[in-house]
Amino acid sequence: MARGRKLYEGKAKVLFAGPEPGTIIQYFKDDATAFNNVKKGTITGKGVLNNRISEYLMTRLMEIGIPTHFLKRINMREQLVREVEIIPVEIIVRNIAAGSMSKRLGIPEGTQLPRSIVEYCYKSDELGDPLIAEEHITAFGWASPQDLDDILAMSLRVNDFLSGLFMGIGIKLVDFKLEFGRVYDENGEMRIVLADEISPDNCRLWDTSTNEKMDKDRFRRDLGNVAEAYQEVARRLGILPEGGLQDLQGSETIQ
Ligand code: C5P
Repeated sequence: MARGRKLYEGKAKVLFAGPEPGTIIQYFKDDATAFNNVKKGTITGKGVLNNRISEYLMTRLMEIGIPTHFLKRINMREQLVREVEIIPVEIIVRNIAAGSMSKRLGIPEGTQLPRSIVEYCYKSDELGDPLIAEEHITAFGWASPQDLDDILAMSLRVNDFLSGLFMGIGIKLVDFKLEFGRVYDENGEMRIVLADEISPDNCRLWDTSTNEKMDKDRFRRDLGNVAEAYQEVARRLGILPEGGLQDLQGSETIQ
């Protein structure tokens, strides 16, 4: 599929103009960063795995009526998505205390939360994605109160659905981050859709019986076997790349 010009290079993905107006090609890199770019590395095969895992999860979510930007996977490292106007707010949904919430509030990692907790962060690398309140989002016009209601309702549905999906393959969905964007139809009607990716880069996934981490915390915390953990998530989902593990480098490279 013809790839247009490079539009943006992020930490884990590169975006290219797609073949049709209003489409984008997301290219998944093996690069990993943590702590707002302070720690950098490469996880061999991560891009291939995240492309597959995100395709799989977005497709399952669309089947239950969650609108997403996903159109189709093109090859090992690329997927075609709808162009969206990204809402500059990261939605974090937590089921078990971990990471920044544990640190901020002194709640030991692994504590089951009394109910799912949703947090919002302002998407800004420069500022380190600071935690914000609903008030900031509506007052600064990043999303209207109605948009925010929709985003919250969709995020909670995603949480319920993915918690069950992962539970079925022996994985606890501890927390995750979502991003949403706006798309406009030919009449100018706006719709909010789930965007970006859903993968072990932006979820915390713990093995149900051992609590072993199967996500990017293995990289952030130097726990080793990072690629193996991502592979195990794909294996349990039943979606390891066609050619098996030797295909994880992927044939496509960025020109
Ligand atoms: O670091 P923190 O505990 O706030 O992260 C919560 C969840 O959101 C984790 O699953 C993490 O992978 C994800 N996250 C993310 N991108 C960020 C911040 C958090 O994917 N910029």
